[in-house]
Amino acid sequence: MTWKSILDSIHRLLAPAVVACLTCGRMGNRSTQVHGICPDCYKGIPWIRQPRCCICGRHIGCPDCTRINGYERFFECNRSAVAYKPMMREWLGQYKYRGNERYSELLVMMLGKAYVSMRNEHRQTKVAPPWTIDVITCVPVSTIRLEERGFNQAEVLAIELAELMRLPFARMLLRERHTDKQSFKSRSERIRDMQNVFSGDQNIINIAHNILQTRQRSLGNAPLRILVIDDIYTTGSTINACACVLKEIGKVIGYPVEVFSLTWARS
Ligand SMILES: [Zn+2]
Ligand SMILES: [Zn+2]
Repeated sequence: MTWKSILDSIHRLLAPAVVACLTCGRMGNRSTQVHGICPDCYKGIPWIRQPRCCICGRHIGCPDCTRINGYERFFECNRSAVAYKPMMREWLGQYKYRGNERYSELLVMMLGKAYVSMRNEHRQTKVAPPWTIDVITCVPVSTIRLEERGFNQAEVLAIELAELMRLPFARMLLRERHTDKQSFKSRSERIRDMQNVFSGDQNIINIAHNILQTRQRSLGNAPLRILVIDDIYTTGSTINACACVLKEIGKVIGYPVEVFSLTWARS
């Protein structure tokens, strides 16, 4: 137990039984709250339970992944916890731009649920060894963005998800250059923009070797599976650029690598 967790428990004991919902601010009974939010807010979460597109995990019909004039895809598939609806935009804004750290627990809980469904989905086909992720990593941000925001929102989510799921976390990617805000760009502009943005961390090969050495023998020669975490999936160009670099590891170490992605929201 860390000092922080001890202090947190004391704080909980001393705090009044009536607390405000983290997201809507309404006062309510502590016992009716789920991860700090009231039942109404919890009910309003637009979970993606059945993705319509099995590649990008989109909840609505998806032209992107079937397009022939698209690009080569380096990742196996993406899954997202929720659809990027206005309420989710507000929650992400609180966490990412206003630095409201109390949201991280809520967001990680949601990612954890999405990870479990992703795992269940992949384990439906009962082939041995069962599908599992070897290492969790995240989309890196540029130094400029890091200074501006003070933290890499994707890295915090990835580290906490790894802890929750008892999986290893490693920084595997670097961002070579800063890209302008992606939100105002067309799909093809984004894809062009993302070329050569990422590179592998200098330790990336050692990391891969270590994972292969320590993984259980029961996994046989299953591919090395890497899960990339980001807050939001829009066109997939960011994830794909990361996956392109990660797939290169496979060529260097002479072992198959599969890249999956888990994002908090799918826009
Ligand atoms: Zn609420
Ligand atoms: Zn799709």
